[in-house]
Amino acid sequence: PKSRVKYTPEGDAHFSEDFVQKVADHYSARTNQTLEEREASPIIHLKKLNNWIKSVLVQLYARRGDAVLDLACGKGGDLIKWDKAKIGYYVGIDIAEGSIEDCRTRYNGDADHHQRRKKFSFPARLICGDCYEVRLDKVLADDAPFDICSCQFALHYSWSTEARARRALANVSALLRPGGTFIGTMPDANVIIKKLREAEELVFGNSVYWIRFDEDYSEKKFKSSSPYGIKYKFHLEDAVDCPEWIVPFNIFKSLAEEYDLELVFVKNAHEFVHEYLKKPEYIDLMRRLGALGDGNQDQSTLSPDEWEVAYLYLAFVLKKVKHYHAS
Ligand code: SAM
Repeated sequence: PKSRVKYTPEGDAHFSEDFVQKVADHYSARTNQTLEEREASPIIHLKKLNNWIKSVLVQLYARRGDAVLDLACGKGGDLIKWDKAKIGYYVGIDIAEGSIEDCRTRYNGDADHHQRRKKFSFPARLICGDCYEVRLDKVLADDAPFDICSCQFALHYSWSTEARARRALANVSALLRPGGTFIGTMPDANVIIKKLREAEELVFGNSVYWIRFDEDYSEKKFKSSSPYGIKYKFHLEDAVDCPEWIVPFNIFKSLAEEYDLELVFVKNAHEFVHEYLKKPEYIDLMRRLGALGDGNQDQSTLSPDEWEVAYLYLAFVLKKVKHYHAS
């Protein structure tokens, strides 16, 4: 039984592998939606808001001709964002074979897909693999260095063990050029823990999501136990239903520093929206993505329950430090 091997280092790795497979199977099984199905989703405005957040990050940091590494790229939902930024090269990696297949179809211009469009203007390499296990500097030796690395709504899948969290950051650091940027989005552990503390049970949520912890991670326990492998089950209607791991941001920040990645900013999604939705170009972008109702300049087309889910996430930007050698 898993509980027996759980506490040995080797057993820990095997224990974690089962869950890694669960995550991969979950995403692999999710098929592409038609435009009609997508628009009927109970979280359609949340999906549009998340796309807006990712687009803002891309527009803030991508420069014409950039080489981009998209870790856990999924079905390639961000390909268009990168195309608009006129990047020069794209490498996407995901553990879910089905998603990489969908990504390939999208890149090659699938006529059935709702984004009927011209071919992408940049060459791309799409790979199926575990970004948090494999040494990507070896796999991508001929493609590196990258100007930007992006990991959207996925970095928390690396926090099942310290070794995986380290591999994720070591990969990013090894593949980014000095001065290169690492952008991402992931759950905001502070918000999740606050909600757990406020909840009367180990489960909480609303009409579109729930989160369930198996163990009572009271504050004291959080402080005394390892910051890795703190697992919960996340269910989001029409999107996610799999194990995830808490990423305490202060620990993530220090670990990233060990790999020469320095924090530029971290913002909860609510703060991010409030800050960037003041700028005319991003209001326009929000309108174009359909995340705003006619004439509204706030989040009013999201239901309160969707807006609460948005609060569970944060956006971060890290920079690979430049090394200066004294002459
Ligand atoms: N980044 C995409 C986006 O924003 O649309 C997909 C986000 S989806 C919520 C999470 C993705 O992480 C899934 O495609 C999943 O297969 C991928 N993933 C999870 N663990 C992974 C791993 N160890 N290596 C590579 N991809 C992984």
